[in-house]
Amino acid sequence: MRAARRVEAVKPSATLRISSIAKQLAREGKDVIDMSVGEPDFKTPQRIIEAAYRAMNEGKVFYTPTKGIPELLSAIAEKMRKENNVEATAENIIVTPGAKYAIYEAMMALIDEGDEVILLDPSWVSYEACVLMAGGKVVWVPHNEDFSDAPVENFVTPKTKMIVINTPSNPLGVVYGKEFLKKIRDIAVEKNIFVMSDEVYEKIIFEGTHYSLASFDDMFDRTITINGFSKTYSMTGWRIGYAVAPKWIIEKMNIIQSHSVSHPTSFVQYAALEALKSDSSFLEQMVAEFRARRDMIMRRLDELGISYAPPKGAFYIFMDVRRNGDVFCEEFLKKEYVALTPGSAFGISFKNWARLSYATSREKISEFLNRLERFISSKSSEL
Ligand code: GLU
Repeated sequence: MRAARRVEAVKPSATLRISSIAKQLAREGKDVIDMSVGEPDFKTPQRIIEAAYRAMNEGKVFYTPTKGIPELLSAIAEKMRKENNVEATAENIIVTPGAKYAIYEAMMALIDEGDEVILLDPSWVSYEACVLMAGGKVVWVPHNEDFSDAPVENFVTPKTKMIVINTPSNPLGVVYGKEFLKKIRDIAVEKNIFVMSDEVYEKIIFEGTHYSLASFDDMFDRTITINGFSKTYSMTGWRIGYAVAPKWIIEKMNIIQSHSVSHPTSFVQYAALEALKSDSSFLEQMVAEFRARRDMIMRRLDELGISYAPPKGAFYIFMDVRRNGDVFCEEFLKKEYVALTPGSAFGISFKNWARLSYATSREKISEFLNRLERFISSKSSEL
């Protein structure tokens, strides 16, 4: 007896697996610092929590339309028009239980057996898994040295069906510039390729400007924009995200949704609606705090001589640990109770790298930096 090939081909999510190990160690009483998973450590704003309560109290606890409640679809479409310069209407939106599920649905809806999907190396852990589960083949494209560009044009073949772009990027923290995105646009239009543009970190930017690929000329008809509430409003556990795409793609994704999860939780959709109405003060404070943490870590990594990709957005630092990252992360967790995600989880060229998520308090970050220094000096001085 054996499981289906589609699931044999993928491993459990590294980010979530390591975070579970860290949580288990903490339950056992160990003084764990979990810098593995990327989830904001702020309380969801009170008015969003109250909107969920209110919806429950008002009896909004039954099935909703599978694509999501119409008010939320319209509010997301308006947000896309106003903030992202993307001319979407409600029929271009599907609300999903987390942005990850929107990615999964889009891959299942568009990728056929043998289709090639271009991922930039490194990329977030679940893109590859979703491509494989859909029966597609991942084509990894390396970045240039400063991670601002990648020679995607050299990797396009007649089988290329989709290019996945994530800006700001997880794990790099890179915010891609207009020139690179314009190049992706030109390739996609010329070769008739879909683009998945994952923009979940669009609001967490310290340097540079965010551009939505769907806003570029002739891109709306071939772009699936992914976004969600987890990162911007600190709502990871609520599981609520969305996709914006041409109507026909949304309809296909909706077929998958209707037969799998039906729709995202009813009252969570009302909470998301409230989130879109809130002012930016929560976000401003959160981004200021992330910036301070990033600067604090960069200073110390520089002192320790550790190199890393330039983190201009999101809340990760991807660093070169100059030895096998899997071993490094395992030993660091066992000896110092610090959880990081090994670089091997994110692609094919970063076996000696590790990702840290600084979505944790400055106090813990400071302790992490001390433990890192101790760990490095106890192992060798060459790092
Ligand atoms: N996107 C976050 C991360 O990379 C959340 C965890 C996950 O779903 O992978 O850590």
